[in-house]
Amino acid sequence: MHILDEILEFNQKFVENKEYEAYQTSKFPDKKLVVLSCMDTRLSDLLPRAMNLRNGDAKMIKNAGAVVSHPFGSIMRSILVAVYDLGAEEICVIGHHGCGMGSLDPVASIQKMKERGVSQEVLDTLAFSGIDLNQWLKRIESIPESVRQSVNMIKQHPLVPKSIYVHGLIIDPETGKLEVIVNGYEEA
Ligand SMILES: [Zn+2]
Repeated sequence: MHILDEILEFNQKFVENKEYEAYQTSKFPDKKLVVLSCMDTRLSDLLPRAMNLRNGDAKMIKNAGAVVSHPFGSIMRSILVAVYDLGAEEICVIGHHGCGMGSLDPVASIQKMKERGVSQEVLDTLAFSGIDLNQWLKRIESIPESVRQSVNMIKQHPLVPKSIYVHGLIIDPETGKLEVIVNGYEEA
């Protein structure tokens, strides 16, 4: 059975049996918190449990590497919406040990794209348009440094109020143990 069919079959029973009742909450984060973390599958359930975050507690934003790479990209926009429209007052940027973004190899990635049918012409057109794939796909050299950079990007953003606390942490994807890289209260 295809995964989508499997999901839809499960979903029908989930709704019929009113299993959603255990998750009912509002769109406003009860803990007034935003968590930016990596999309790593080991963290899907482990991270919220290790932080005692339940449905409704925090706005959860995810991408590869838990990185804010652009001050006016979709991650930053999500953070601003969480702050201004949904009442968030604190932000946690959470990287993790063994992140896939730490071993990314742009040359190998581009080679895989070619093998899957992306032509050299397309790559040349992108390069000509000023898109540097080697830079865009480059690996994260240091997770603590990357967390610090993302925290600074948020803190120094011209549209983020000064009253917002921004913390930086690293989580162990095996044990869920958190390590504080930036304590937003001390930096405030
Ligand atoms: Zn990761």
